[in-house]
Amino acid sequence: MLPEIVKGFIILACIFIPLERIFSLHKQKIFRLGWATDVTYFFTGHFIGRFGAIVVTLTWSLMTNFLNSELQSKVASQPIWLQFAEAVIVSDMAYYIAHRLLHEVPWLWQFHAVHHSIEHMDWLAAVRVHPCEQLFTQICKIMPLVWLGFSKETFVVYALYSAAIAFLIHANITLKFGVLKWFVATPQFHQWHHTKIPEIYNKNFAVQLPLLDLLFGTLYMPAGKRPRKYGVSDRIPVGYLGQLLYPFFGNIKMVNNQLKQGMSRYFRPLPVTLGAILVAVSSLSAVSLINHMDIPTFIASLNSQKITVAELQQGKLKPVILIDVRSPEEYAEDRIGESPLVPLIDIEAGFGVKQVQAIARSSVKSNQTQPTIVLYCARGGRSVKAYQKLQKIGFNLAFLSGGIAAWREAVPAKQDSEVLAPIIRSPKETVRSN
Ligand SMILES: [Zn+2]
Ligand SMILES: [Zn+2]
Repeated sequence: MLPEIVKGFIILACIFIPLERIFSLHKQKIFRLGWATDVTYFFTGHFIGRFGAIVVTLTWSLMTNFLNSELQSKVASQPIWLQFAEAVIVSDMAYYIAHRLLHEVPWLWQFHAVHHSIEHMDWLAAVRVHPCEQLFTQICKIMPLVWLGFSKETFVVYALYSAAIAFLIHANITLKFGVLKWFVATPQFHQWHHTKIPEIYNKNFAVQLPLLDLLFGTLYMPAGKRPRKYGVSDRIPVGYLGQLLYPFFGNIKMVNNQLKQGMSRYFRPLPVTLGAILVAVSSLSAVSLINHMDIPTFIASLNSQKITVAELQQGKLKPVILIDVRSPEEYAEDRIGESPLVPLIDIEAGFGVKQVQAIARSSVKSNQTQPTIVLYCARGGRSVKAYQKLQKIGFNLAFLSGGIAAWREAVPAKQDSEVLAPIIRSPKETVRSN
């Protein structure tokens, strides 16, 4: 089975390569200058997009107090076509502003110039976007939609539409779109934005609604003319790594000049600071992903007592009560020994907390060490969330690192009772929901 991203690449290539052969605007090779760089952007951009989604989720969770649930439910209750139209207008307005900033603020241009460095426009050029710019524009475009509360279905339709438009507007095609050209960004509209002439590339900032440029006086679409040369006068490296470093250090020639002038001139403070923040957030995100958690849950896990499978087997927290916080379906498939089930959803609703207390109390025997409740889920994410909810119940808590997946790697199902016997404290009555 091919990963989704590889399938996506093949489908796009199968659509656009023939289209660019049949309706080509400029004669150029499929493997034009920088194609390998752009293929690299295609695959790395996918992961940066996922990271962007985590950043949006994190920001959204921090913004909960500023959300207007009444407005959100009104927005989400509209017909999907109306929500989609509104989403396009709102997000393209936000993108228009962000894109103008990328052109007008010199240090932001350092990042955006990478996208404009493309000299042979084709569908693949769409993905040549510096990761910092990708995160910046993704957040600018998506946050207003999240804040307004568009439905999940609208997000799906919008995401597919905006991805399709992004590839289309960079395609090397000469197709005409008639009156649609005012409502849908077209190759003709965006090709002008990539011309080598600054007076022209500082036009056509929208990526979905050319009407916005008409409204703000930045539209450039002369009838019957098409651009001849694309690119920028800035000397931008052709390779992927060179382009990643360009906004921070410039090209090799600039680095050499800066070195001659002394190290203090070598670093550009603002982009370097932003780069450092990006690296820090990326590392946090990567560690969270490795632990199968989102960032807030991972941060919470740092503040929660964790026990590994090996420590549990060695009896580190002995005696323990194991509680499964997954769904009844997962529980029915497999569980650790005879551990009772209290799904996270029940704990979050409140009555699950009482169930856990009942299980713990039923296993407390007088004159014996109080047991530790060890929560487990599939890989650890849900047990940390349950841990947060159960902190005040008056029992020692821990979550099983790596969840049942890690347990099963070490202990086959038939050996559960044998391994658990010396460490487990069984409730007098097993309390099970469902
Ligand atoms: Zn631009
Ligand atoms: Zn572009």
